[in-house]
Amino acid sequence: MKGKLSVIGFGPGSFEHMTQAAKEAIMESEVIIGYNTYVDLIRGLLSGQHIVRTGMTEEVSRAQEAVRQAQAGRKVAVISSGDAGVYGMAGLVYEVLMEQGWRRDTGVNVEVIPGISAIHSTGSLLGAPIMHDACTISLSDHLTPWDLIIRRVEAAAAADFVIALYNPRSGRRTRQIVETRSVLLRYRSPQTPVGIVKSAYRDREEIAITTLERMLEHDIGMLTTVIIGNSATVVYDGLMITPRGYQRKYTLGADVQPLKPHERLRAEAEPWSLEAREGAVATAEREPAAGAAKSEAAAAEATAAKEAEGAAGDAAASPLALALEALRLVETQRGAANAGAPAETPSWQRESDPFRRREILEFAVSPGLAEKRLTAAQLTLLADIVGEDGSIEYTPHHQWLVRLVTSEPQQAVSRLEAAGLLLAPVGDVAQIKACDFCNMDKADSVPYLEDLQQRIGGLKVPKELRIGFNGCGMACYGAVREDIGIVYRKEKFDLFLGGKTVGRNAHPGIPVAEGVEPDRLLETVERIVRRYADEAHPNERFHKYYSRIKELEGYRYREVPVFKIENAVCGD
Ligand code: SAH
Repeated sequence: MKGKLSVIGFGPGSFEHMTQAAKEAIMESEVIIGYNTYVDLIRGLLSGQHIVRTGMTEEVSRAQEAVRQAQAGRKVAVISSGDAGVYGMAGLVYEVLMEQGWRRDTGVNVEVIPGISAIHSTGSLLGAPIMHDACTISLSDHLTPWDLIIRRVEAAAAADFVIALYNPRSGRRTRQIVETRSVLLRYRSPQTPVGIVKSAYRDREEIAITTLERMLEHDIGMLTTVIIGNSATVVYDGLMITPRGYQRKYTLGADVQPLKPHERLRAEAEPWSLEAREGAVATAEREPAAGAAKSEAAAAEATAAKEAEGAAGDAAASPLALALEALRLVETQRGAANAGAPAETPSWQRESDPFRRREILEFAVSPGLAEKRLTAAQLTLLADIVGEDGSIEYTPHHQWLVRLVTSEPQQAVSRLEAAGLLLAPVGDVAQIKACDFCNMDKADSVPYLEDLQQRIGGLKVPKELRIGFNGCGMACYGAVREDIGIVYRKEKFDLFLGGKTVGRNAHPGIPVAEGVEPDRLLETVERIVRRYADEAHPNERFHKYYSRIKELEGYRYREVPVFKIENAVCGD
């Protein structure tokens, strides 16, 4: 008689959430093998089966015993919580069989019965946090090197995955979750929603929704799954929800959709799609956009360098990104050149070296976010670094635009930063323009300004985005005239959205909120800017985007009464 080995995932733990197939396989089996607590969870299904209970860390002997019993001709059920193929017994059973040279057609019959894994059971209790690309990461380093785990955390954080952390913490392993959170904070806002579920669908179920900043204040243990939201995840009425992206195309509150069904899958309706992007790259290659023309030299260099490498060019890259890409290429070549050069004078340092390349680096410089005064030493240094070949252009945006021709871009950047100057990328990035806080007499809101800069300063956006931040109700630096205006008043903030900053029909932003608490304000502005970054069409200005989508974080767009006046293009 040929035995049978069923590896069964029994789901989160409640009877109703176990599949019919799992129940039947358990009831039909003669031997049940599982971790003590799990056997207790399925007790209601048992009718005199032989039970082999084992403790934690005894998985290997459990799998070996299961194989032995099945080979002796018995019907064996190996049980795992959730899904047996997710950090469960399925893989281990197959590994033991492989070790013995087992074959599907001649060996014991093996089946894996799927179950609801913790990512899904806990997700369902939190709302709908797993609506977009997600991954699971187990923080247990008993069998996996910690270096590998933390690399995966970093990769998932950088790629904006929703992340379900399994085995987040145990009595012995307490530091892993702390380290994981620090890495996540390098990529995600402290306000990112985090769901913590303990014992989903079991007796002592606990559900908490918090933020990345505060998650460690909650009870996290071996029966907990922690779900980290992505940059779009929101909390609504105690639920954690990750939008799928429908709002990019549909107006969710309207009965009639702006796009007819036959228009919805066209490339024009999906400017973010691969098809539409390829079209845009082809156009940009034929006729570089006005913004990109500024950095033609740098772009041409970097494009040439990229082509040399066979890499695909990115037409939307900012000049600083291009410069850094160029730097990376130079460093790769240094490495290659170094290989054959004497150690004391690497060949790339010699003037005659053909690999020594001079790059054009373009960036904005200012004395600081709030500081408007420059010292003589800073000016001298700037003049020295810019030299004869570079240029400094005074812009209307509280900063100088610097173009450097240099073979040592990183060194120039470090020297300027060491002198206390603030360097920022130029082009299509989020830029915060603050007032001088009355020479720091009214500096109460400066920490919030710095927080905002941390969150979104320099973030790549579809079109240059200026955020005015003024420290009192006088708003004398004109915050309300920027794309987004923030005015601090009586320990709270007023918010203005969608200023039209240039043109003869320019107008200030729409006052959308008064007296907003600082934390909420920062959180809201960050979400608005990130949504704009994700959802706007290429080159779509913020005020156009706002008037198109009609609502941002609950603030409805209102038509601004303006005189009808033709908006002349430059030179007319
Ligand atoms: N095979 C299981 C995972 C086993 S690893 C599955 O697919 O779900 C054990 C980890 O799973 C726990 O540390 C916890 O992070 C998670 N987990 C399993 N059951 C859970 C439940 N009912 N509630 C919350 N988390 C659970």
